[in-house]
Amino acid sequence: MVAASGNTPIHLLATLLLRRGAGLVGFADLAEIPAHIRQGLPRAVSIAVPLNPHVIAGIRHGPTREYLAEYHRANALLGELAQAAVDALCRGGFRVAYGTATVAGVEFGQYDTPLPHKTVATRAGLGWIGRCALLVTERYGSAVRLMTVLTDAPLDTAAPVNDSRCGECVACVQACPGQAITGGLWRAGLPREAMVDADACYRTTRQFAPAIGAEPSIGICGACIAACPWTQRYIRAASGGMRDET
Ligand code: SF4
Ligand code: SF4
Repeated sequence: MVAASGNTPIHLLATLLLRRGAGLVGFADLAEIPAHIRQGLPRAVSIAVPLNPHVIAGIRHGPTREYLAEYHRANALLGELAQAAVDALCRGGFRVAYGTATVAGVEFGQYDTPLPHKTVATRAGLGWIGRCALLVTERYGSAVRLMTVLTDAPLDTAAPVNDSRCGECVACVQACPGQAITGGLWRAGLPREAMVDADACYRTTRQFAPAIGAEPSIGICGACIAACPWTQRYIRAASGGMRDET
């Protein structure tokens, strides 16, 4: 399915992933990132799966069992999409590497991943990093989950996003039940610590697990996702609304 040269593989790969349930697909040039962090592979496929807007509409004041189920559904789909991308790229003779969707069950104080999916997504032009340190997309707000497939395929990479489009908005800062979002405005390279107190977020998200039947190790919240005006626009669009607050 994926040829070794020309534009055909790019078109086919994105189309393949979109048909199988991806909401957004972008291609990133990672040359500016140290080679050991990207496993020596110069480019990446960034895949975003949108979360059900009706479920997201219900988590403004805390997560629900429906949100937990949706979270697991999206992660499973991302795994399938990554495997589909890997299969297609391997058939074209390219090298690949990929991991898993970011999981919420990390240990306290150990949040760093060498190459976050959201960083790759900004390099692939899918969106910017909001004050809440999540990827924000025009189409789905921050109601997406992400996956990355590293490759040496000659993908037609996008112009990276280097600046925030949050403007004066502080909706997620005000909505956070743990006062974890410190309000910094992102630009490429800004460390997460300048935007979010990860320890405070960790502690807050673990408090919700028992009420929704999640394992104690699972941190899940989503209030910042639901509060974002870009997410709210997605929810309204899915409900047939026309008003635009952004
Ligand atoms: S997930 Fe919850 S606790 Fe963490 S930053 Fe978002 S709103 Fe705050
Ligand atoms: S709620 Fe506002 S500040 Fe927070 S990520 Fe969305 S647009 Fe940015």
